[in-house]
Amino acid sequence: MSNINIDKQYVANTYARFPVEFAYGKGSYLYSADGKEYIDMGSGIGVTAFGICDDVWKNAVIEQLNKVQHTSNLYYTEPCAKLAQILCSRTGMKKVFFGNSGAEANECAIKVARKYGADNKGKDYNVIITLKNSFHGRTLTTLSATGQDKFHELFNPLTQGFVYADANDIRSVEKLVNENKVCGIIIECVQGEGGVNVLEQSFVKGVRELCDKEDIIMVVDEVQTGNGRTGELYAYMNYGIMPDVITTAKGLGGGLPIGCCIMNDKTEMVLGAGDHGSTFGGNPVCSAGAISVIERLDDNFLKDVKKKGEFIVNELSGAKGVESVSGMGLMLGIKTTRPAKDVVLECLEKGVACLTAKDKVRLLPALNIDDGALKKAVEVLKEVCAK
Ligand SMILES: *Cc1c(COP(=O)(O)O)cnc(C)c1O
Repeated sequence: MSNINIDKQYVANTYARFPVEFAYGKGSYLYSADGKEYIDMGSGIGVTAFGICDDVWKNAVIEQLNKVQHTSNLYYTEPCAKLAQILCSRTGMKKVFFGNSGAEANECAIKVARKYGADNKGKDYNVIITLKNSFHGRTLTTLSATGQDKFHELFNPLTQGFVYADANDIRSVEKLVNENKVCGIIIECVQGEGGVNVLEQSFVKGVRELCDKEDIIMVVDEVQTGNGRTGELYAYMNYGIMPDVITTAKGLGGGLPIGCCIMNDKTEMVLGAGDHGSTFGGNPVCSAGAISVIERLDDNFLKDVKKKGEFIVNELSGAKGVESVSGMGLMLGIKTTRPAKDVVLECLEKGVACLTAKDKVRLLPALNIDDGALKKAVEVLKEVCAK
């Protein structure tokens, strides 16, 4: 039996996979088991930030693997400590909790906001505002936080205490603050799964001001937008605000599972010993890889991410079959005349692996994708969109 058929028989039916089995790759090129070459414009949904089997990342991981792969959180390890230090120095935040995924990062942020509310405003201040069309994860609580009904229907009762505001409508946030005992607001500065929707500057600033005024914890979900993806280290840095909590995951690990909840001076002491934990959190191998990722995201590199993004936007804006392009840096959504799914399937047949987000084609290439691969991929995409 082929691996595809074994997978179909034995792996849970939770994914609608494309009919391709990837066997190996390098940088922004992936190779299928039957020997076909693909340009990777999705980087495993924004995870392989420096591409497949990047040497710097791989060596950092191997070096740590040769020392110790896991200790449990009963003990200290260097990569975990150093990574937390780097994340704080790059953001101005104070402390990091490590988990293994975006959902876990958000679970921690939700606990921080609720405990902050209980400690500072009263036990009933437990409501969290998120935005319609958001995506915050697949655990029952982060599913509740996700402002999309289609994710909720089958899994009631969900975790209580989430209400949903309209993106880019500060009045709708204010209304929910007035109607509920709110402890936290979670936003994605660019909604990823929701269709690559960029939040407006005035809205993000308005949320910050409202949180200051009402003593509410402002959480930015940077699981997808973080770690250089938008051309800044974190997407909130495009907005000139400081959040109280940052959650991030995906690209930080470079391909190994990691998630973190980063807290500022207001939130760093909210969780105490025993309030939260994770067996694998802060794993030294994942952390060593993450250090190698974050250390390369300097100003020059981030400028290059913006340039690559601008190249894509310039090529696709106004191209035949392209209605609009949204996003920031190398997180882009393309509204196509043809159904996005058809475009992505046909690109895949032509050796270019793209993603969708709602009704858009979504591009999340490796941050260091070489210009040759990028050019080739954009040519194919234009050709398929024009049909
Ligand atoms: C992917 C994603 C998550 C969930 O991350 P997992 O690692 O799949 O748990 C949460 N928030 C945002 C914005 C995401 O894009």
